[in-house]
Amino acid sequence: MTGALATPRYAGAAAPISDPALGRFIAGMPKSEYHVHLEGTLEAEMKFALAKRNGMALPFADVAAMKASYVYHDLPSFLAIYYDGMKVLQTEADFRDLAYAYLARAASQNVIYAEMFFDPQEHLKRGVPIAAVIGGITRARAEAQAALGIRSQLILCFVRDLSAESAMAALDAALPFKADLVGVGLDSDEAGNPPEKFREHFAKARAHGLKVTAHCDIDQPDTLRNIRTVLTDLNVDRIDHGGNIVQSPELVAIARERGITFTVCPTFSGTLRKRETVPVDVVRAMLDAGLKVTISSDDPAYMGSEYIDDVLIRAVERSKLTREELVLMARYGFEAAWLPQADKDVMIARLEAYVKAG
Ligand SMILES: [Zn+2]
Repeated sequence: MTGALATPRYAGAAAPISDPALGRFIAGMPKSEYHVHLEGTLEAEMKFALAKRNGMALPFADVAAMKASYVYHDLPSFLAIYYDGMKVLQTEADFRDLAYAYLARAASQNVIYAEMFFDPQEHLKRGVPIAAVIGGITRARAEAQAALGIRSQLILCFVRDLSAESAMAALDAALPFKADLVGVGLDSDEAGNPPEKFREHFAKARAHGLKVTAHCDIDQPDTLRNIRTVLTDLNVDRIDHGGNIVQSPELVAIARERGITFTVCPTFSGTLRKRETVPVDVVRAMLDAGLKVTISSDDPAYMGSEYIDDVLIRAVERSKLTREELVLMARYGFEAAWLPQADKDVMIARLEAYVKAG
């Protein structure tokens, strides 16, 4: 359409793999993603294109200089870069182009279904209307489904280090568009912002028919307390990250009993260090604990531009995952979709047919 950015074409996965046949199996496998922040898919190339379209100047000479600035050592230092980068998102067309670029890249890697996060508070505070944010993403979803066959839904995330009032204002602004949302989530800096800060927000979202998920980032202060709160008090439908749960057999038992699925992003949160004498591999430990794990790419534009196939390949190498474990996690993913059971059954049948043919 007029003024839209050309959708980039992408090659397949680039991460090295010791078993090339397994790499090909991953590439062809029907997949789903539940933990990808749309603003975290904003590639440096697109930032420059959007800045130009919106008449904005960026403090970097070129793409290479911008990418060289992506240096972080913990969650707050990552978030500072992340929030600064999204300022180029100004119009409905910007959000459309952002979401379509992610969906095109995901579809090129055989992702057939995605539930994507977005952070409306960050856009509202810059004066971008919620209708432009949700409208642009919703248009991209429809266009990507029609053109590429990838289905998707949208999860509104509360930015937990902003005020509870700001989060409620964002929810209230978004509720007129609730038909375009499937759920709410909780992301950003967990330290000092426990999940119960959003009790009323979750209750209101549920009353409007939305699902609820929450980030429990790795090795945060009070991490086990927060995991307990979302599991047993706020009764979330899924947990994003949550790897520290393996440090509590009691919480593992509760999560297994409730059938909770964890959306794990090993690129950023792959290892437990605090309280551990030896670092613990999150994916391996969670699978071995009998938890339902599905792997996602989180904020790929800030993590070496590695999307789901690369993330899975690196997880295979690091966590010594077998083909059977990859298929099991793909199945957990489709089962966790916030879709009618009949729709999930169709996707699971596609996975089973692929495995049988392979
Ligand atoms: Zn995340």
